[in-house]
Amino acid sequence: MFRPRTESQLTKTFVSTKSVITLVSLLFLLTAIAVQGCLYYFLTSLDKQAAIELTQRVSLANRIESDHKQQLLSEYSYWDDSYENLVLFQSEEWADFNIKGYVIANHEFDFVIAIKQSDNLVYLETSDKAKDVVYDEDVKSELSFLIDESDRLDTQTQTTTGYVRIKDSVYFVVGGPFIDESSISARAGTYLLFGRRWDDAYLANISSRYQIPDLKIGDSLKGGAFGEPMRSPSGQHLGVLTWTAPRPSQEVLPSIVVLTTIFFFVAIAITRLVLKKDMADRNLYEHQLYLEATYDSLTNIYNRRHFFEEGRQLLHSHQQRHRFVSVIVFDIDHFKQINDSHGHRIGDSALRHFVNITSMGIRESDILGRIGGEEFAILLPDTSCQAAFEIAERIRLLLVKQPLLVNQATVSFTVSGGVAAMDSHDYFESLIEHADQALYRAKAHGRNQIQSYPLLKDEASAV
Ligand code: GH3
Ligand code: MG
Ligand code: MG
Repeated sequence: MFRPRTESQLTKTFVSTKSVITLVSLLFLLTAIAVQGCLYYFLTSLDKQAAIELTQRVSLANRIESDHKQQLLSEYSYWDDSYENLVLFQSEEWADFNIKGYVIANHEFDFVIAIKQSDNLVYLETSDKAKDVVYDEDVKSELSFLIDESDRLDTQTQTTTGYVRIKDSVYFVVGGPFIDESSISARAGTYLLFGRRWDDAYLANISSRYQIPDLKIGDSLKGGAFGEPMRSPSGQHLGVLTWTAPRPSQEVLPSIVVLTTIFFFVAIAITRLVLKKDMADRNLYEHQLYLEATYDSLTNIYNRRHFFEEGRQLLHSHQQRHRFVSVIVFDIDHFKQINDSHGHRIGDSALRHFVNITSMGIRESDILGRIGGEEFAILLPDTSCQAAFEIAERIRLLLVKQPLLVNQATVSFTVSGGVAAMDSHDYFESLIEHADQALYRAKAHGRNQIQSYPLLKDEASAV
């Protein structure tokens, strides 16, 4: 029994360009998200840094302002002359000149109070902005906390600061006892207080001087704002000093997001374009490779390898469905002589001529292949051996009637054929082998004829 040669199946799995494009696009997208995430993280940490720096600037501004005001106060509390004129003599003239004309007019304080506790108020002078400041019980009680705080201090001047609310306004106050210049000690029961109204103009001034945006006094902290609570000496909540921290990320982040998004989309588009072009080129190349691996370049019909592949598949499917398959093997007679007497070029034309003739004699479903130099085979699905024999005979006669014409000269040649039909457990190779045996017989019996395997009844009787 004929054993077919087992041909190893060439299989290789390639990653398709489509999946590469999808993967690359996905990677680009993930990179874009990661880059934007990093930028977001970086910029928001800059925001945090800016907010911390601004908070530090606010406390520095507070300290500078407070120190400056304490210094101004100590100029007077440390000066015996002022104690004498304000507390002892209550000299309006002196106060007008030295206090009103200097502290209020030049240093933007809005009120000055000198207190001798036994006599209570001894001097109160206000600017136009603080006309409603009166030395009433509320003010007295708030100031008593300040005075107590000063008492507790062991600094030389015992000055202290704080916020007080008088009527509807909040004042920044700085106070301390008068100091005896000779003994450098606080004069018991005395107190000097300077107040500055924290109105919009003053806040705007501080805001621009220390570059603190949106410095305001509010009731509470609102979204995105920073601040610190303002309490009176008695601990009463007066409001919140708020400011807005700059957020550099807000200014650059949208444009960075837009730019990086555009960049990545352009990059994705270009990459896709390049890969798609590559895919088209590769498809074309693969198609050419397929044609070369499948077709015979001279006659443009299936080559031996592909013909056998097709044959095996057809045989298998027809065996399963219990249907006929027949095969014809043709071999051109004395082809060597055609080459020898007319040359190889004419030999090639003869091969093409035979293919043209054969193509005319077969159906669409029949499969024609070149299986050797001047050997051809036809697979005939759903065709009995008898029918295949008749087809082969028709082709043979067609070739006799239509010789090759070259430059008005006739090149006649004939063909011998062998026909075999599929057996229920035939391999394709053995089917071809049977057809070859019939062909051999046709050659042996004088060529230009068709034989079948096994012999058909009328042939058998003729032999
Ligand atoms: P037979 O009747 O016994 O088949 O004799 P033959 O001369 O046809 O057979 P043989 O096998 O002796 O010679 C076949 C020749 O076919 C030999 C080879 O040079 C020629 N041949 C094979 N392929 C080609 C081809 O592609 N082009 C041409 N021009 N000749 C070919
Ligand atoms: Mg041959
Ligand atoms: Mg031959």
